[in-house]
Amino acid sequence: MRKDRDPDAGLAPYAALVATSHGRRYPEPPAEYRGEFQRDRDRVVHSSAFRRLIYKTQVFLNHEGDMYRTRLTHSLEVAQIGRSVASALALSEPLTEAICLAHDLGHTPFGHAGQDVLNECMREYGGFEHNLQSLRVVDELEERYAQFRGLNLSFETREGILKHCSLANARQLGELGRRFIRRRQPGLEAQIADLADAIAYNNHDVDDGLRSGLVTVDDLCEVTLFARHHAAVNSAYPNLPQRRMIHEIGRRMIGDVVNDLIEATARRLVDENPASIGAVRGMPQPLVGFSEAGNAEHLELKKFLRTRLYRHEHIEGQRIGAARVLQGLFDGFMQDVTRMPVEHRDAALAMEAVSGTAGRARGVADYVAGMTDRYAFQEHARISGSV
Ligand code: MG
Repeated sequence: MRKDRDPDAGLAPYAALVATSHGRRYPEPPAEYRGEFQRDRDRVVHSSAFRRLIYKTQVFLNHEGDMYRTRLTHSLEVAQIGRSVASALALSEPLTEAICLAHDLGHTPFGHAGQDVLNECMREYGGFEHNLQSLRVVDELEERYAQFRGLNLSFETREGILKHCSLANARQLGELGRRFIRRRQPGLEAQIADLADAIAYNNHDVDDGLRSGLVTVDDLCEVTLFARHHAAVNSAYPNLPQRRMIHEIGRRMIGDVVNDLIEATARRLVDENPASIGAVRGMPQPLVGFSEAGNAEHLELKKFLRTRLYRHEHIEGQRIGAARVLQGLFDGFMQDVTRMPVEHRDAALAMEAVSGTAGRARGVADYVAGMTDRYAFQEHARISGSV
């Protein structure tokens, strides 16, 4: 039996340490066999918002095919990349994984199109930001504990989940919002999770984009990173079937980018030598990042995907469908909250009693944002049919 292990053993002094954690909002006795960040990771895995990610769109609508990434598989890929980087840099793997697995918990159905529509619906009522919603899910909306609302995660996990935040919202968030006002950094594990997200989606969107036929190998050869590995794979294995060739290029691209991130970050850590996570947080710039050349390639690929895949007419068409469904749901429930299931109706009415129409709107947004793609279609059909 391995009890009383030191969860911080072997970590760098600038890692997020359990020993110096800012702790949980509601103090709890320590777990017997797990470190606190491992416990956070486990709480995320057991949450209902995490399970629902399986039926939420990443880029391709969830019902378009079983081979495409969903928000769940995306989150797992982000966690894999994040852990590899954290491990190589002697940073906290469980914390990095907890942040990665939780980073999209507040995402709406229908991918970014869904988030844009819900933000538009909520414009007069404080807006909708999926990062802030992820924090809201773990702080308020999950109902798993007798003693408190939410999952009561550690400060460091919550700090990482809140990647971006408007200044207006930051002012409401106390200690967690302060870094956005002072333009300071989160811990290194949070910085890793942020870039692991970008590495994962850049690379898996190449794979899904090719699978869909919306972009081709020839199109992608305009991108330096892809072209380099395409040339190397083709010269080493000239007769490789297309699918294996694409996957071989994909794994080399991820390996290349992850190694660049580890090595460039390690160099910065040597130069700056922060004494603690406090010193990391006090820096004006993040320390986790690519080399200059690596960053240029990363941005080039990102730009290619934005212009050639995310703005493809097929994806734009989905956007219009998603807008119609989410707008219909939001308007329908705003008009009559009693059409929501009873616990959501009660939550919306309770918030309305405190902050008027904006409170009601927040309750409706919580319900709509939590839906999977297919549940959103079902609910839309239900309330449209009953008009
Ligand atoms: Mg993501």
